[in-house]
Amino acid sequence: PETTHGWSGTRIMTVANQKGGVGKTTSTVNIAAAMARAGLRVLVIDMDPQGNASTALSIPHLSGTLGIYDVLLDGVPLEDVVVESPHVPGLLGAPATIDLAGAEIELVPLVARENRLRRALDAYLDSRPAGQAVDLVLIDCPPSLGLLTVNAFCAAREVLIPIQCEYYALEGLSQLLKNVELIQQHLNSELRITTVLLTMFDARTRLSADVAGQVRDYFGPRVLRAAIPRSVRISEAPSHGETVITYDPTSTGALSYVEAAAEMRQHQEVAV
Ligand code: ADP
Ligand code: MG
Repeated sequence: PETTHGWSGTRIMTVANQKGGVGKTTSTVNIAAAMARAGLRVLVIDMDPQGNASTALSIPHLSGTLGIYDVLLDGVPLEDVVVESPHVPGLLGAPATIDLAGAEIELVPLVARENRLRRALDAYLDSRPAGQAVDLVLIDCPPSLGLLTVNAFCAAREVLIPIQCEYYALEGLSQLLKNVELIQQHLNSELRITTVLLTMFDARTRLSADVAGQVRDYFGPRVLRAAIPRSVRISEAPSHGETVITYDPTSTGALSYVEAAAEMRQHQEVAV
């Protein structure tokens, strides 16, 4: 029946924060890997021209590779660009090539420019064969609030905000919240900020505790209890084309992402 579309059972989250270097990409790929390890089928959509998520998943993304650029600009089906990450069964990725850098501008004159990703994703999820539905889509955004990020907001139902436990962490957050509100009002009324993840947490510093306290005061139970510690293993993993989940599964960094992913699965039952 119509109500059992692959789409309806799929959780679609955009990982956003217009600050760079706060752990968007790292959180996207590691939560995705942890979820896939737990038996879910997960799709990571790389919307950042830097292609860092593609790198961490060992998904080819040299210029000229078919990727999200072709989906957004040329109407190539998402199905044609999605590949499975070699390290984790059930973990799929849609690569970003550097060509995507031009897309912010090239999208401007196009019809339905904000909804290009949504249309492609809906078609993809609808066409999944029985028994192969995608359980979770995570969209990794660039550190800006341009049309690529707007496309991600329009395609998703949830926003996951990673917040780095550093000075200035909260700066720019009100701008992000205002933008989410604008998207809700004009483009995607379903969008909700459901999840906040503290990253690069250092339990020894007063600063980390202060930032965490302020974030928890503001966002309440939407902040995951698991905070991601600063960890060398986490930052090393991408240079091996891996997530820390496979690179060093027993490290504190890997365990913290596994915990965050487990909480997100519980949250879903409460929130949705
Ligand atoms: P963003 O996508 O928000 O720009 P990244 O996920 O790329 O941020 O992270 C920025 C840098 O910080 C990367 O070099 C990454 O490897 C490193 N990094 C991210 N999270 C951690 C962490 N928990 N511990 C140590 N380094 C981290
Ligand atoms: Mg990034």
